[in-house]
Amino acid sequence: MLNLPYEMREGVKCVMNLFRKGNKELIKELNRSFVIDMVRLKGKISRTEIAKETGLGLSTITNIIDELIKENLVSEIGTGDSHGGRKPVLLKFNGDFGVVAGMKIEPQQVKMCLSNLEGKILHKHQFSYTHNEANRLAKVIIDELDSFMKQNECATKLVGIGIATPGLVDRESNEVIYSPILKVEHGDLKPIGQHFDVPLLIDNDANVFALAEKWIGQGRDYRNFIGVTVGAGVGAGIVIDNMLFRGDFGGAGELGHITIYQGDRHCYCGQRGCLELYASDAYIVNEAERMVSIGVPTVLASFTPITPESIVIAAQSGDTYAQELLVKQGENLALGIKNMVHLFNPEAIILGGEGLREGEFLLKGIQKELAVHFFVKHPRKLQFQTSQLGGDVWLIGACALVVSHLFRVPIYN
Ligand SMILES: [Zn+2]
Repeated sequence: MLNLPYEMREGVKCVMNLFRKGNKELIKELNRSFVIDMVRLKGKISRTEIAKETGLGLSTITNIIDELIKENLVSEIGTGDSHGGRKPVLLKFNGDFGVVAGMKIEPQQVKMCLSNLEGKILHKHQFSYTHNEANRLAKVIIDELDSFMKQNECATKLVGIGIATPGLVDRESNEVIYSPILKVEHGDLKPIGQHFDVPLLIDNDANVFALAEKWIGQGRDYRNFIGVTVGAGVGAGIVIDNMLFRGDFGGAGELGHITIYQGDRHCYCGQRGCLELYASDAYIVNEAERMVSIGVPTVLASFTPITPESIVIAAQSGDTYAQELLVKQGENLALGIKNMVHLFNPEAIILGGEGLREGEFLLKGIQKELAVHFFVKHPRKLQFQTSQLGGDVWLIGACALVVSHLFRVPIYN
């Protein structure tokens, strides 16, 4: 198979089938998709380089590029270095052609943004909702997005809406089937897309995290990596061969619910011993409260209530009990990560999520436990990175859902 960038390989399989059928119009449309994606994902590229990368003829590419320039999807941006002969004209995707709304649904608040088609965030907004509104979130989001868009003129170019949400998501019906973190069951988000009359794409937040890392984060450099998120829950987004692996119905990567101890702690999912019970924010808060209740001499006793943030503050101020607790959380999390490493043999783990915070002690625990696994003797070492996209990672990933949908290679039956 050609060495094509992200998101394009499924399309190539499709093209291979279709070439056999020989539908000219369709092949033209597919070639156009390949060229747009190549310019979009490569940054600056010349016509000759596109030809080399896609295997398409130079005259085909020249025709397609002429069309794209006319439509303002692609612009010429000067010349590149010549390797003998004329300097090549460089092309760039016009990211300002359209605007995407990206959203992250959290317990009691929703963050939203408007971004261009290259993941550049233009405007941000967030709002709170009450527990009673959780099961009619679509209506609340429509009202807020409506007024947010009215305040920002660029929103007239809206081409799609992407939503990241915790829990089990049905991407076909755009429904949050079940999210204990949000306390939502059968949350139908479809009306949002219908109201604004644009494509609506929703996905689990760990998948969205991995997608953002793949698009403009540290995942760009890896074909195979696992994005791990820690916070209220624990999740994973699995990228295999440059594609997000979602499993049969989008449930792949439920890292928080693999069993790490056959103990007596019961998880809300009905199982015992889930990783989330030993590695999420709730774990450190519960453990800290337990320590205080049995009279452990920790400064945590002076915090009411004890929050994940206060535990980090206590650890940074030198409280050894708080430090050890965060290290233990890291070790527990790494047990789960190692299971994934053994199953998928990724090049890298990219860690993120609000639970990372200052991270020092949590990371110490993870690195200590990750130092030993079955592959350590292999010369290709597992890379461990923390996300550099900050709190915007979810919004960027939500926008990536839309952009990869818009520029996907068309699939015809
Ligand atoms: Zn569970």
